[in-house]
Amino acid sequence: MSTLYVIASPIGNLKDITLRALEILKGVDLILCEDTRRTQKLLNRFGIKTRTLSYHQHSKLKKINYILELLRQGKDLALISDAGTPGISDPGNKLIQTIVTGPGLVVKIVPVPGPSALTAAASIAGVPMDKFLFLGFPPAKRKRKKYFEEVIKSKYPVIFYESPYRILKSLRDLRETDAKINAKPTRKIVVGRELTKKFEIIYRGTIEEIIEKIKKDKIKGEFVVIVENK
Ligand code: SAM
Repeated sequence: MSTLYVIASPIGNLKDITLRALEILKGVDLILCEDTRRTQKLLNRFGIKTRTLSYHQHSKLKKINYILELLRQGKDLALISDAGTPGISDPGNKLIQTIVTGPGLVVKIVPVPGPSALTAAASIAGVPMDKFLFLGFPPAKRKRKKYFEEVIKSKYPVIFYESPYRILKSLRDLRETDAKINAKPTRKIVVGRELTKKFEIIYRGTIEEIIEKIKKDKIKGEFVVIVENK
């Protein structure tokens, strides 16, 4: 039986790759990756020579059929995204769904856990995270208002992802929504920027305070936002 290993990879610091992930990446027949050049950097760093093939959310049916054919032939594959855990705001689940619902294909699917911006941020939140809501990226246009209302009204802390280009806009929209819903908008947030990287920063404060701090620190970066519940 062939195996598909779903492998978490570093979100910045290459030393965060696990020993098990390295062993599997070395041993499989092929590595499916979002961006082959990016994954190649990781492989070069650890002297891994396994072949790679690009697989991402826009991959065509022809590519998916090719991957299914390799699995049918008994090949062992690894699936890795650009950073973090596949399937969390990243490709992975569509392929897995095709495999598990496809007739006559028996593939062992094995998670190889490791870094994720989601769990890294949750681990340093400093508020109870036994229950939380993860909402991925805010939508660009439609349903944006509803999205932020759901964040502000949530019974549980909410975690969302944001890019350097949209972080200020999203925090401003969050602040406005808070002001609309609550008479005294004092909601606190925690923002993880460039987690595990050289310029990692963790901001803590009200939405207004964090907007000012991010405006001042001009460096770019990836962001995870945790919005405390009421
Ligand atoms: N699957 C990935 C994971 O498990 O973390 C997430 C992929 S998603 C396409 C990329 C987003 O994750 C970024 O836009 C950012 O919001 C967040 N992210 C990734 N790396 C990060 C880091 N080092 N620090 C803060 N946020 C990060």
